[in-house]
Amino acid sequence: MGAPPTTPDPSLTASTPVIPRVVPRQDHGISRANISEHALKVLYRLKQAGYQAYLVGGGVRDLLLGREPKDFDVATDAKPEDVRTVFRNCRLIGRRFRLAHVHFGREIVEVATFRGGNADDDSEGERQIENGMIVRDNLYGTREEDALRRDFTVNALYYNIADFSVIDYAGGIEDLAAGRLRLIGNDPERRLREDPVRMLRAVRFAAKLGFSIDPACEGPLLALGHLLRDVPAARLFEEVLKLFHGGTGLLAFEKLRHYGLFAHLFPATEDCLAREDQSFPITFVSRGLENTDRRVQEDQPVAPFFLFALLLWEPVRQRYEELLAADLAPVEAMATAAAEISASQQSQVTIPKRFSMPMREVWELQPRLEQRRGKSAHRLLTHPRFRAAYDFLLLRAQSGEADPELADWWTRFQEADGQDRARVVEGATKRRRRRGRRRKAGPGEARAEEPADAG
Ligand code: ATP
Ligand code: MG
Repeated sequence: MGAPPTTPDPSLTASTPVIPRVVPRQDHGISRANISEHALKVLYRLKQAGYQAYLVGGGVRDLLLGREPKDFDVATDAKPEDVRTVFRNCRLIGRRFRLAHVHFGREIVEVATFRGGNADDDSEGERQIENGMIVRDNLYGTREEDALRRDFTVNALYYNIADFSVIDYAGGIEDLAAGRLRLIGNDPERRLREDPVRMLRAVRFAAKLGFSIDPACEGPLLALGHLLRDVPAARLFEEVLKLFHGGTGLLAFEKLRHYGLFAHLFPATEDCLAREDQSFPITFVSRGLENTDRRVQEDQPVAPFFLFALLLWEPVRQRYEELLAADLAPVEAMATAAAEISASQQSQVTIPKRFSMPMREVWELQPRLEQRRGKSAHRLLTHPRFRAAYDFLLLRAQSGEADPELADWWTRFQEADGQDRARVVEGATKRRRRRGRRRKAGPGEARAEEPADAG
């Protein structure tokens, strides 16, 4: 395992040039009206400066599908340093993969220099390969080489600003029409080993575009999930956000589990899901992701801390139960469970502190929401994470894990004001007394649902 493939992929090292298919302007549906004015500005300025300039990647793919692109990527024969001399508003980024970012207010147009050379060629130290994985790729080449080094055929189409044609070296137009995600070249396993993140990209595009994954890619996809462990955890954080915040997160989740990839991103969660004897953990994650998808589709903001709170809740909850059984007080048990699961997750997928802190707060508020006494309830309302914690409680209740009556109570408590609020609290106190009496009569009930006082 992890051994580099030894036979070169002939399709990527062919010495005879590939003749591309060129679709002229009148034979494809891309109109400049649908390209951002900033991307057009970049393309035209590069062209005026004497360079080749193309729109590539998701922009071309989505425009050909009649979808609105998320962003626009540009490919050129200009070196990053040359790009910088053309644009004042330009920053060079990335060591692993050097790129120019041209800034226009909040919009960034990413400009990449053609990559190329033989896939095994790291002679100039500009391409670095470790165990078959490309860890650095700054070896420049021709447009053709650049096309063949991309991931999927549908991502390797070039829209030429010089004559508005679309150039296809890898059969991407055909695959686009067939709704098929196919890795470029004859050796899909090799391409996934070169960059295991391509496995996540396969799932993401399949979910987002509703495409099928080429059968030749499915085998290696099912077998190579463990390679994700070699990918820097910070890069995986970005990919996880793209997977789950792209509007089709639920489908992505199901596909990740189908291909055995989820286990390598969230091992603690996968352990719980795999040995579940009740259905609520799956229901909980599914409902949460469904809500997230709805929010994305309605252009409402989505928060990474909430996403990670959702994805890691089941292991946190199970650890919490264990600690309660070991006689820890609820608030302490939750703080401990939250700290443990959050720490163990970091080795897989980094969660930056600005997200892991509020994520833990959402968890830590769960036992506190079980307290419905007037003073602490009022205090919780002003907690900066109250709203998120309440939404979280609703999800738990909807998936059958938390008491729906508790969630209802908080809904009523928030909606009420002044005197009414006092009455809601009063109602809770009475109910608690009645239950308390009942509980004493039923020794079979293992644990009081009311946590010990947390102040
Ligand atoms: P999105 O809609 O998410 O922006 P995209 O296809 O444009 O999708 P980007 O991450 O913006 O994805 O990358 C732009 C292009 O760069 C891709 O379409 C692909 O051609 C190439 N590319 C990106 N990541 C990889 C990779 N890991 N391996 C090979 N090529 C890649
Ligand atoms: Mg893109």
